[in-house]
Amino acid sequence: MSQEISNTILSLPDLDVTSKDLLLIAGPCAVESREQLFKTAEIVAEAGFRFLRGGAFKPRTNPYSFQGLQEHGLELLGEVRNKFNLKTVTEIIDYTHIDLYKDTVDVLQVGARNMSNFQLLKKLAEVDKPILLKRGYAATIEEFLLAAEYLISGGNQRVILCERGIRTFETYTRSTLDLASVPIVKKLSKLPIIVDPSHSCGRSDIVIPISLASLVAGADGIIVEIHPNPPKALCDGLQSLDFQRFMELVSEINHLKPYLRGE
Ligand code: PEP
Ligand code: MN
Repeated sequence: MSQEISNTILSLPDLDVTSKDLLLIAGPCAVESREQLFKTAEIVAEAGFRFLRGGAFKPRTNPYSFQGLQEHGLELLGEVRNKFNLKTVTEIIDYTHIDLYKDTVDVLQVGARNMSNFQLLKKLAEVDKPILLKRGYAATIEEFLLAAEYLISGGNQRVILCERGIRTFETYTRSTLDLASVPIVKKLSKLPIIVDPSHSCGRSDIVIPISLASLVAGADGIIVEIHPNPPKALCDGLQSLDFQRFMELVSEINHLKPYLRGE
């Protein structure tokens, strides 16, 4: 294991996340419309989650797929953030966009496809916002932590890691969730690590048990995709929970909470 990992990962980032407070994030894969985002934000706030996710600039594998509402998506995130008092989380794919995110986004997400985009990481190291860094789907745990080092050594210690599964030969899930990375990362660093059950599973029917398993394994939270009408979603509908299933998940998490993290 490299020296850098043990030496430079410091105290818990100043993120308004206490050790007893799970980092719970939910929202649509992509911001699609004002109506979709407002409906979703309302349920996220009602659930007691403090963070709303929603992609505006989407890094799609297929160039013909919906690429996101882009600048307009960021504006809509700004509107719901004020109305529902939620913190917003959205992906940034290009460092020339940093200024666009200034007033409407609280947490900048670096997606799996960009975990090794070191130029992007170097620029984000200079930004005064927390970074949610997702594990690349072909990255080892060490490579994942070294990507975090780019942010930390460049001056931004407010890094939240996110395990979102890696690519294996298995086909029943979209990616294989490497849950062991959660306690391993906890041994190697003091950074918070959350799990993305949606992108790892790729199917909504197993998102609830995998979310709970993640929290039991020691994850500091989850980021989960939800949608008012998953079959009509423009992106990742198959893995998105509808509101009823989301509220079931919330109730399960609330039951589990007293047993987690020494509460
Ligand atoms: C996302 O969160 O919408 C996303 C694209 O995830 P990932 O980078 O993990 O594939
Ligand atoms: Mn998605």
